Amino acid sequence: MIRVHGYLGQVTERLHQDAASADLVVGGRRHLDALGVPEDRRVVLGPLSPAVEALRELPPGGRAVVVASGDPLLFGVVRSLRKAGLEVEVVPAISSFQAAFAAVGLPWDDAQLVSAHAGGIDAAVRVCRTHPKVGVLTSPRAGVRDLASALGGSGKHFVVAERLGEPGQRVRVLTADEVLALGEDDIAEPNVVLVLDHDPASPEAIGTTPQLQGDPNAGSATSATVDSAGTETAGDGGEPVIGQVYNSNRSRTRADEIESALGVTTRRYDMPASRGLVAAWQECDLIVSHLALGATTRLIAPLLADKHTDPGVVVVDEAGRFAIPLVGGHVGGANDLARRIGEGLGATAVVSTATDSLGIPALDQLGWGFEGDVAHVTGAIIDGRGVRLVKRHPWTLPPLPPNVSPDAATPVARIVVTDEATVGDDPVSGDLPTVVLHPRSLVVGMGCNKGTETDELQALLDETLAEAGLSPASLAAIVSVDLKASELGLVKLAHRLGVPFLTYPASELDAQPVPNPSEIVRAEVGTGSVSEASVLAHGAQLVVGKRKSPVATCAVGRIPARGRLHVVGLGPGARDLLTPRAARVVRNANHVVGYAPYVRQVRDLVSPYAEVLATKMGTEETRVAAAIESARSGNDVAFVCGGDPSIYAMASPTLEMGTDGIDVDIVPGVTAELAVSAILGAPLGHDHATISLSDLHTDWDVICERVRAAAQGDLVITLYNPRSRTRRHHLPDALAIIASHRGPGTPVAVVAQAERRQQAVHLSTLADFQPEWVDMNSLVVVGSSTTRFVTSGSGDLRMVTPRDYHWMAATQNPPEEQIPERTSRLDDHTARADEPSGAKE
Ligand code: SAH
Repeated sequence: MIRVHGYLGQVTERLHQDAASADLVVGGRRHLDALGVPEDRRVVLGPLSPAVEALRELPPGGRAVVVASGDPLLFGVVRSLRKAGLEVEVVPAISSFQAAFAAVGLPWDDAQLVSAHAGGIDAAVRVCRTHPKVGVLTSPRAGVRDLASALGGSGKHFVVAERLGEPGQRVRVLTADEVLALGEDDIAEPNVVLVLDHDPASPEAIGTTPQLQGDPNAGSATSATVDSAGTETAGDGGEPVIGQVYNSNRSRTRADEIESALGVTTRRYDMPASRGLVAAWQECDLIVSHLALGATTRLIAPLLADKHTDPGVVVVDEAGRFAIPLVGGHVGGANDLARRIGEGLGATAVVSTATDSLGIPALDQLGWGFEGDVAHVTGAIIDGRGVRLVKRHPWTLPPLPPNVSPDAATPVARIVVTDEATVGDDPVSGDLPTVVLHPRSLVVGMGCNKGTETDELQALLDETLAEAGLSPASLAAIVSVDLKASELGLVKLAHRLGVPFLTYPASELDAQPVPNPSEIVRAEVGTGSVSEASVLAHGAQLVVGKRKSPVATCAVGRIPARGRLHVVGLGPGARDLLTPRAARVVRNANHVVGYAPYVRQVRDLVSPYAEVLATKMGTEETRVAAAIESARSGNDVAFVCGGDPSIYAMASPTLEMGTDGIDVDIVPGVTAELAVSAILGAPLGHDHATISLSDLHTDWDVICERVRAAAQGDLVITLYNPRSRTRRHHLPDALAIIASHRGPGTPVAVVAQAERRQQAVHLSTLADFQPEWVDMNSLVVVGSSTTRFVTSGSGDLRMVTPRDYHWMAATQNPPEEQIPERTSRLDDHTARADEPSGAKE
């Protein structure tokens, strides 16, 4: 029989007796000496295998004692003995961790424990970096000085606990610098070290009782976890940490490019790949690996655990041509990151998850709460089998293939979209595999006494929702009166639930027609209602009237399900002048409306399941009406325009027509004037006017008046819609007006088809200008009295309107004969879409 005794400085009576009567006593020399075990019965531990051999050879009925430091079950000898096939009886003792935490009075149920004996100092350092409370079993080779030197500058507190339970026990709380100032002899063995974010005496160090994953009683903060579909920042709203791993100069430069393309600071791991990837894996939510796909795969293979907790990994090749999400495509955010890198570097994002490559939205990535069998239902969608869609209200979903529909024949799965807590009976598809999606449709109004605790507020909120059968995962916001904007309980509650906390002025709340106003409340806060009125002020419909606890009030509203109309500017034509925002809106739309050439310009971005309405010229009114109507019916509509949507385009007629009942979002684009200005140089460097010569919507007299005023004002003038097949005289007339205020040498430029394949540039002067250079896809820029041509480094002429800096010598126009008529085409490297053939909106 082998009995393993824990020992932390105290020889118990029982250990004493067992050791005295055992045939064999195994232990450290320190332990054996303390027990006075004679040489012939002792096995001194260094390596374990001789001891295991000796224990195996114990005769039947023989008795052995193994003495282990601290608790033999914690990083102790029991695991090894049992693995070696030996049967043991264990007499526990307190562990050195317990004694060390006890010495500073800290709970340790939320601590991470590591052994530097087994894992080495690097593993211990990684855990210390990412965790606020860590206990480290040190060894002479991997001790507190190694920890302190790796963690210097991190502000950590080191509790160095030496010779616990023994004579000479000492516990010191030191900073990294203080540890490093110690000599080797100033640290006694054995010791254990606690590495803490906070001074052990401070309240922050106490920490909180840990909530275990999968614990059904883990508390009501679960809505925050259901919340953002399990993404890495669920619950705390923080930005994900992105790490970049590389070890070559070229990749270092690429890493800089990625950082500026993403607009965030990334953590850099410029070290041997194996170390870099492992460290990044511990410390980051997303990793960009600049190693080969194969090397990255091999290095992360042993680290893979679970797609819900593993970081997302994107591999970028040495030439920066591809961004390849390797793991964590959806939940880990790698697909999104790869796309952003692709957009930033002009690289191709190689996305291989089925939903993405087929253009099917990931049900767990909608930003809504979700539950149920996502994998099964997604599989059915991908396979083209019937999926029944049940929507309680007309909430907008991203484009879905036709096999997903409210009346899918012979459905094999179902999607229920609801803000209710239960799905309810559905005789057709009730027992099918189901995903329940909870849109962010509920707003909770709350009022409370000063100083009310977050837990009390949450209890009232939970009860109110539960009683009404509503799901906390559908919560969109908590709202209240301005007076409560800094009420800590409410602020913390919103933070805990991962929703915004918004407040309204008392006067605005008092104007709301609430069912249950209170004179007492009005006297106190200046409005007869807080909870109900703030729900109404938020634009929601009241679904649960005021409910009270002794200290707080709560009401719930539903934000009406509204379609969205994005009026989107696509820029002049080149794909890299389409903004990422515009591209995203087009991708997510389930209805795309626009003048046919513009729709063609982004056809590749449109979901295969989106409806498309591409109209001809001259049907603006029909187009606007169709876009608004579509949004009213609950669609997410991208109404696309060339250039910018508000510059001679569809944003103003859309807003003018009336957009009741829908959300309107204007997405800016690079207008022709800006694209043309950049091609020419800097003609808009000083004050300028933009005038459309189209008299379809404006009287010609008014246009002439404006041209005259701009000419008198010596403004640079950009002429949109300068000429069409039927409008021939307008441009010469306008130029004649300008010429009566400016000299014949005034620079004039025409750019036709800017940023499209057929781009053509003509530089000239008022005297020499030829209207034939101009068609309806052109923009004409007439300089002011100070605009001139300069020669750039490459020998090209550029048009410049000086900003009149005093420190610059005045530049002269080059002699007339040096102003050639210039026609240029763009280099082929710019990605280009089909260009609109005629552009008048
Ligand atoms: N919303 C558009 C303007 C529409 S009005 C924008 O912001 O750019 C149409 C006029 O814009 C055309 O007649 C032409 O004058 C000008 N235009 C639009 N795209 C152009 C391009 N790529 N190159 C030159 N001119 C362009």
